[in-house]
Amino acid sequence: MKPLVNTVMFTHRKYKIAKGYILLNSVHDRVNWSKEVWGRLNTPKHSFMLWLAIQDRLKTKARLHSFNILPEAKCQFCKVADETITHLFFDCPYSSDCLQQVKNWVCWSITASQLPGIVRVIGRMKATRFRKMVLSVIMAALVYHLWRVRNESIWLSSLDNPTSIVQKTKAASKIRIQSVWPKKVSAKDLEWYTVL
Ligand SMILES: [Zn+2]
Repeated sequence: MKPLVNTVMFTHRKYKIAKGYILLNSVHDRVNWSKEVWGRLNTPKHSFMLWLAIQDRLKTKARLHSFNILPEAKCQFCKVADETITHLFFDCPYSSDCLQQVKNWVCWSITASQLPGIVRVIGRMKATRFRKMVLSVIMAALVYHLWRVRNESIWLSSLDNPTSIVQKTKAASKIRIQSVWPKKVSAKDLEWYTVL
């Protein structure tokens, strides 16, 4: 990261502070979400999927359509809008329903409704490390299961309802968290987790 910034600073004669700020900020942003994406409690394959999604590296239909690989780009869930990464996570009414159910489950009243914003909120929120790690696990599991159900739907021509995805997300999150339970969890956090 640092050599990149230094290169720009010392090789561009017309270096502008604003440009440097944007560059530094983008580096900072990447660091910002890495803790949540690669959280210690996260299921590794869920982390990887979240990492791909947050960087817009998934092979969405809109992307494949733009390369003429697919004839059309309609979302597998709602069949209305084009399947872009922002539509999938979480502009689509279907995935937005899943997200809302997850928010209700953990009593999370944040207004952020786009994946990068949600992950940033987790990183910046005033909560214990344990709660942030649990929320990271849940968001990574939700993204993973949405993408998986989306893929299955393409091959099987059937689609689970949002509640079923949320149930899978809940079950996978709880199994994972219980299997890698941290050594130190406060009584308050334990109480919070137990009622989930
Ligand atoms: Zn949709």
